[in-house]
Amino acid sequence: MSENPAASPLEAAVGGDMERATDAFAVLSNETRLAILLALWDAHDSVNPEDGISFSDLRERVGTTDSGQFNYHLEQLVGQFVRKVDDGYLLRRAGQKLVRTVIAGAGIEEPTLERTPIDVPCPYCGGQTAVLYDDEWLYHVCTECEGGFAGTNEQPDGYLSGAALDPAGFGDRSPEELWAAALSRGYQDMKTMLEGVCNECSGPVNLRLKVCEDHDEDGVCETCGRTPAALVILGCTVCKNYHASSPRSLVLHHPAVVAFYYERGVEVGYSHGEFEQIRRRDRLATRNEQRVVSADPPRVEVTVRHEGDELRVTMDEDAEVVAVEEH
Ligand SMILES: [Zn+2]
Ligand SMILES: [Zn+2]
Ligand SMILES: [Zn+2]
Repeated sequence: MSENPAASPLEAAVGGDMERATDAFAVLSNETRLAILLALWDAHDSVNPEDGISFSDLRERVGTTDSGQFNYHLEQLVGQFVRKVDDGYLLRRAGQKLVRTVIAGAGIEEPTLERTPIDVPCPYCGGQTAVLYDDEWLYHVCTECEGGFAGTNEQPDGYLSGAALDPAGFGDRSPEELWAAALSRGYQDMKTMLEGVCNECSGPVNLRLKVCEDHDEDGVCETCGRTPAALVILGCTVCKNYHASSPRSLVLHHPAVVAFYYERGVEVGYSHGEFEQIRRRDRLATRNEQRVVSADPPRVEVTVRHEGDELRVTMDEDAEVVAVEEH
């Protein structure tokens, strides 16, 4: 994938200019500046996004009386976060992103959700599963078996899967709807990453198929800490954002698999956040069988089945589909 031996990914990202990165933090370490960003956001009209807000109007919204101080702080933001236009000031994209982060996360009290059963069977034992929320992450766990991954300090027992869910995502969703929302977002993030673009920073993505060379097929393997022997890691080369997914689930994004289902009248699509539709898609993924063909180089074959018909999809070490066979 895209690798530049001359510069680290971080250097490449900031163009070797570390000052720009440290400036961003300095700018934000001040309440007035954050208040200015929030006031600009408040005034931001998404229908007329090019309309600026005047200096005096902005100062009034922030509520600062000292004009000199206010001007000083505003000037610190102009450039990277704020744009000066004819009729005043506007939030630049970087400024909007920052405010969104504040609104989606810190601005809202972190919701809590203890282990709550949902109507989705465990893909490994068919038993009762549950969802729980911790550190802005929605976990899906099995209450009857070890799940797909060994529990660690970070991960709860019975861990099956997890996905990012901002506190704003809670709304009045039921536990089932939360699971669907998190999974739906996970699908989208994964699709973007699969296409080689980081869903967090737009940076280039590396795909790697990991295969356990000494896998114990009976429950969570002691060597790799997973129930499945193969896992695809989708990692950003710039911001360290990464996703992990099983090959059997990733192949649902492949056109040959979509076509296989389409020709047989099986609905693989889903409406965002719709519990029944997400559950149907999840069931298709967990029904697929994945088999390690070779550990070195890593090769995995996923078999997709429908009423006696079979499609076999082979993935290589870069998680690229290198063979598709219909039987
Ligand atoms: Zn289970
Ligand atoms: Zn293993
Ligand atoms: Zn990234």
